[in-house]
Amino acid sequence: MTVRTRIAPSPTGDPHVGTAYIALFNLCFARQHKGTFILRIEDTDQARSTPESEQMILDSLRWLGLDWDEGPDVGGPHGPYRQSERGDIYAQYAEQLVADGHAFKCYRTSEELDALREARKDAGMQLALKPADLALPADEAARREKEGWPFVIRMQVPDSGTCVVHDMLRGEIEVDWQQVDAQILLKSDGMPTYHLANVVDDHLMGITHVLRGEEWINSAPKHQLLYACFGWQMPVLCHMPLLRNPDKSKLSKRKNPTSINYYRRMGYLPQAVTNYLGRMGWSMPGESEKFSLDEMMAHFDIQRVSLGGPVFDLEKLTWLNGLYIREDLDDAALMKALMDWAFNERYVSEILPQVRPRVETLSDVIPLAGHFFSGLPVIQPSDFDKVALEPEELVRLLQFLVWRLEVVPTWNKPALLEEVKLLAEHFELKMKGFLAPVFIAITGSASSTSVMDAMAILGSDMTRARLRHAINVLGGVSKKQAKRFEKQYRELSL
Ligand code: GLU
Repeated sequence: MTVRTRIAPSPTGDPHVGTAYIALFNLCFARQHKGTFILRIEDTDQARSTPESEQMILDSLRWLGLDWDEGPDVGGPHGPYRQSERGDIYAQYAEQLVADGHAFKCYRTSEELDALREARKDAGMQLALKPADLALPADEAARREKEGWPFVIRMQVPDSGTCVVHDMLRGEIEVDWQQVDAQILLKSDGMPTYHLANVVDDHLMGITHVLRGEEWINSAPKHQLLYACFGWQMPVLCHMPLLRNPDKSKLSKRKNPTSINYYRRMGYLPQAVTNYLGRMGWSMPGESEKFSLDEMMAHFDIQRVSLGGPVFDLEKLTWLNGLYIREDLDDAALMKALMDWAFNERYVSEILPQVRPRVETLSDVIPLAGHFFSGLPVIQPSDFDKVALEPEELVRLLQFLVWRLEVVPTWNKPALLEEVKLLAEHFELKMKGFLAPVFIAITGSASSTSVMDAMAILGSDMTRARLRHAINVLGGVSKKQAKRFEKQYRELSL
């Protein structure tokens, strides 16, 4: 048997370090067994998937050296490798399940589903909706079908009993069927859900081992049942431990930068990031901390993964990155790293329009544009003295901006301006007044290049990291304040 593994990211945002971590372990597992590593884009959520996000995921994985053998950009014998191009395949399998009695059409409206859930909640029952709960009287079902009401296809699931799933690292995992609902497989727009598309594709693409994050454990019973309904052999499952913040909470962009773009922009070397990800729950025989991807592949053994939540610690990564720069890069390599990072035509030409109108000598350029080539600016609370806002209002402004920027769909200047305008109105400030503290947070000084352009050029993660840094410099947000802010933020109808 040839081992075939895959990474199956959904292109709905920034390229996440968690995606790279799972890709790395799939790649190493495949290479250890002289197998094949596949990249598949799971873009069935059409409202949230974007081509920009897909491109960023491909670019960042490649930057990290995590190359795939088959994928949407390199092709392969099992394509297409983008789920949005495989719609017909899923519809056909969903129909087969209905014909075989393993799935059923459900004509329930969303209001009815809400009411059903509400009733179960009030009665203190499990919230999972089972086929019997969803059933309509036969004549009503027939009427809706005849009148062409929208419907979804759902899976038949057992009402009770225990499902046992085998996991390569965890052994037998038991899940109570009571908690598993009659999962939607095909949505009313004809698109599959993750569960159907994932199972069908893993089968058709010949995937033998699924290494994925532990957040998918709850999906495993549904997948196992689907494999059984189709009469297919299920790949071996392996749920990797989730990455955590140093306080052990789940790694999230609210607390730490999670986008690979951020690390790239900060000037981490790809080999150091990949090495550090390899230390997440895994260790080299001999416990050495610094090792190359080739060394990791040569010594890889999945059983060396430990399940205690691996901590993604920025300080440790930074320390390791320093080792790489000092020990591995000679002058020529360091020069090349700097050029790849920021001293290149592409990046510098983005900055030239920012400096041209503001300089008299070339030596003015670096002091003026230094914030485009640095990480977190060195700022003090006193830098904000001139901002005419109460301390709490100042922090609230920066915090609200961070939250808005977390969800801005496309990162460009017009979109950012839109956000800033809306928030300025909320704070009853003119644009200039609103931007004054933002300016200091982003550029580290009171006068520099345009702050809106700077945010657009620096990108989402660096911008948010600098805003968060300013909040911390100003004393941070207490738990009480956080509660108050969150409530006010929810009430904003922007
Ligand atoms: N599309 C899923 C994700 O975004 C894939 C999960 C899996 O590997 O099964 O992570």
